[in-house]
Amino acid sequence: MYLTQALHRAVQQAPGEPATIFDGRTRTWAECAERVARFAAALRALGVGSGDRVAILAHNSDVYHEFLLAVPWADAVAVPVNTRWSGPEIAFALRESGAAVLVVDDTFAPMVPELARHAPGFTVVRMGALPQDALDLEASIAGTAPVPDARRGGDAPAAIYYTGGTTGTPKGVVLSHANLLVSALGTAATEAFVLPGGRLLHAAPMFHLADGASWVARNVLGGTHVIVPGFTPAGVAKAIEEHQVTDTLLVPTMIQLLVDSPDAADYDLSSLRRLLYGASPISEAVLDRAAKRLPTAEFTQLYGMTELSPVTTVLTPADHAAPGLRRAAGRAAPHAEIRVVDAEDRDVPAGTVGEVVSRGAHVMLGYWNRPDETEQALRGGWMHTGDGGYLDENGYLFVVDRIKDMIVTGGENVYSVEVENVLAQHPAVAACAVIGVPDDTWGERVHAVVVLADGATVDADTLREHCARSIARYKAPRSVEFTAALPMSGAGKILKQELRARHWTGERRSVS
Ligand code: ATP
Ligand code: MG
Repeated sequence: MYLTQALHRAVQQAPGEPATIFDGRTRTWAECAERVARFAAALRALGVGSGDRVAILAHNSDVYHEFLLAVPWADAVAVPVNTRWSGPEIAFALRESGAAVLVVDDTFAPMVPELARHAPGFTVVRMGALPQDALDLEASIAGTAPVPDARRGGDAPAAIYYTGGTTGTPKGVVLSHANLLVSALGTAATEAFVLPGGRLLHAAPMFHLADGASWVARNVLGGTHVIVPGFTPAGVAKAIEEHQVTDTLLVPTMIQLLVDSPDAADYDLSSLRRLLYGASPISEAVLDRAAKRLPTAEFTQLYGMTELSPVTTVLTPADHAAPGLRRAAGRAAPHAEIRVVDAEDRDVPAGTVGEVVSRGAHVMLGYWNRPDETEQALRGGWMHTGDGGYLDENGYLFVVDRIKDMIVTGGENVYSVEVENVLAQHPAVAACAVIGVPDDTWGERVHAVVVLADGATVDADTLREHCARSIARYKAPRSVEFTAALPMSGAGKILKQELRARHWTGERRSVS
């Protein structure tokens, strides 16, 4: 199996149907295939050979979609780069992955000289106008004869996706064609993934595998990619209305912004039939608000990680309706097996929290150039997720927290996610994060960082009392800090590490 298979099928079955809609232009699957074959030829002409890495640093676009197909067409390995990284971080990824070519869009072209200083040796291909020393992609697509698809896949590496960088330096994850296709096919088999033949909106960054998973599935199941350069509440709402989008994948922070933003309030979102979400925990309060704003959409939660291509469990629309399951992350997808184990890798009983591990054809080939970390993560043949969770009697996984984010206060374990869920139910709270901060008496203290809803006010005592009504008092935040916005990773995840560090250096705002 190879990623470009879906493209050949789309050309055979629906050549005139739109493949991509972006920035007012529509390209059909036939046009897409033609451009991909020439794009691949341009890469070959630059000397890119089997297994060579080709990086991209760009906002979402239709060309990004073509890139993700052209690189495997040329039997090379795609390296999507996080657009939120700083110059040195990007240079590190280019150097580490040994990228032979970097494709940039106009936004990032000015960074090239700095990148070339820190990571010499790559050729620049520019998506927009022709700059000095760079190959103009559009000119090469127009002027190059197409090359045949390498049609190589299976266990051959298809891409190096970097992890979200939520807990530390992002790691390059080498994924094969089979990894990515197995994850997409297995998830699609639950009928809870992208809708066959639908119009999928890409608003989450295409460099992150959360979006990548839905991208693979859309190709496999046919239909159209509707692409916006990046996430803004109004941009998403407008695209849904204008292009009659049927499905999209958003991370929870994006869902919160979409449903709470006044800018997005006036758009008609009734074409949306499926909302996929995952990549971090969602609070029930946000789920409720989303269900109200998007009454035509069914909800599917996906849990997984880059190392697992990424989907591992699925919480279906039907599960969302079952009492008690909305807190769950779902059950193992058809392609995955999951267990929950203790520190010695022994199974723990149902209901007991341990580390989630997974096995199956979706498990990465390994971390790029990090044999020790690969061996550690894959010990015993199971991918160790670093996530704490438990299984119920029916195989539903409940993810309680990242193990690194758990708080130990006065000898008691507190899962930050549980506290966040309760806090988020308070009407004055728009978003929040709960972290452990050092405390002389308790070892660690439960500390909440809160973004207030527009125009709302509330004090720390009220929030503490609100929490103590639903959860044990020791879990309620002992201190609360109010802030205008939470620090986010490029993939839209709250950077608790940054919140903790900030707290320790005393840079935080009013702490009560
Ligand atoms: P890094 O590994 O660099 O610290 P990261 O773990 O955020 O970053 P990803 O691979 O993007 O990198 O994210 C995987 C993680 O996201 C999981 O290990 C888990 O902690 C979290 N996650 C994914 N889906 C869900 C979900 N549905 N519910 C809760 N957490 C989730
Ligand atoms: Mg991780």
